[in-house]
Amino acid sequence: MNFLQNISLKAFNTFGIDVSARQFITCTSINDLSEILSVNEDNPLLILGGGSNMLFKKDFNGTVIKNEIKGISIVKEDDQHIYIKAGGGEVWQDFVTYCVAHNYGGIENLSLIPGTVGASPIQNIGAYGVEIKDTFHELTAYHIEDKKLLTFNKEECKFGYRDSIFKNEYKNKLFILDVTFRLDKHPVFKTSYGDIEAKIKEQHIEVLTVKAISDIICDIRKSKLPDPAVVGNAGSFFKNPVVDKAVSNSILANYPTAPHFKVDDNHDKIPAAWLIEQCGWKGKSIGEVGCHTKQPLVIINLGHADGQSIFNFSQQIMDSVYAKFNVTLEREVNIL
Ligand SMILES: Cc1cc2nc3c(=O)[nH]c(=O)nc-3n(C[C@H](O)[C@H](O)[C@H](O)COP(=O)(O)OP(=O)(O)OC[C@H]3O[C@@H](n4cnc5c(N)ncnc54)[C@H](O)[C@@H]3O)c2cc1C
Repeated sequence: MNFLQNISLKAFNTFGIDVSARQFITCTSINDLSEILSVNEDNPLLILGGGSNMLFKKDFNGTVIKNEIKGISIVKEDDQHIYIKAGGGEVWQDFVTYCVAHNYGGIENLSLIPGTVGASPIQNIGAYGVEIKDTFHELTAYHIEDKKLLTFNKEECKFGYRDSIFKNEYKNKLFILDVTFRLDKHPVFKTSYGDIEAKIKEQHIEVLTVKAISDIICDIRKSKLPDPAVVGNAGSFFKNPVVDKAVSNSILANYPTAPHFKVDDNHDKIPAAWLIEQCGWKGKSIGEVGCHTKQPLVIINLGHADGQSIFNFSQQIMDSVYAKFNVTLEREVNIL
């Protein structure tokens, strides 16, 4: 077992925060995992995928297990569907590229989301009107304390908006080994969200394909979101808040054009980006931390920010949104 000591995590988190881990090891198989865990029982553990949903405030005084379990295989298929299993350490975009190349539909709207397959069910990744719960079939996970393999079907995952059982009851208890998706051989595309329709028209696309949609999503994302390889960030820092009708009504009384989406008779969802922009944060920076000029939900590392400064900046945003709108924002990013 090759445990590395005092390793910088700068290259292993998309914020580019230069903290260190007391021990660091890569895991390429279930056998690796049980061996790592057998010699490492007393340490705090952190399972790391692509580090694209993490904010490190300080050094990690424990063992980081970097998931590198790879492999893509077809489990079964029928006329309409194909079930594909991907190792938890597969890079999400590599898996999307594989499905796009084979014309399997269902995750093309999730193109270019950073991170790994194994992390994708944890916050039920979503974009452009699609979430992974829409194509999720099942996953296998290793229960770290019980040393048991568990299988979860879709219902058992309790998927919600950027939420699942893995962020709640099973937080830090499981290592997700692989995920099986049910892709469509004859997909119906979801094009109503964002600028997808406009792009289809602009590019005079007459026959929609998995690849055409994926290319459009990649174009849109590249034009709107900062590339973490260039500017450190973790995508949307906050969730879109779901508020009581009374709160949204009082916002609408002062801002009649405020965007809001009905969740149920008693609740609305208000875009966090709109709330943050109204508080004057869009494009604003303090020291080495900033709020992105095109997408205020994204907090960026302007160079050498540390995790605590980014956290403090996010707290200032939360405080000002609460003071102005009486709405509490919730962080989407995992803080450590
Ligand atoms: C530029 C950018 C754009 C983004 N856009 C989107 C978007 O459109 N939609 C969206 O939903 N998200 C988005 N994200 C967030 C991020 O890509 C996802 O949350 C992604 O699934 C995180 O994967 P990861 O492998 O990097 O996880 P990490 O950041 O490494 O880990 C996240 C959490 O999951 C745990 N974890 C990771 N792997 C495993 C495993 N195998 N088993 C158990 N626990 C594990 C970690 O311990 C940690 O708690 C974006 C991020 C960036 C940087």
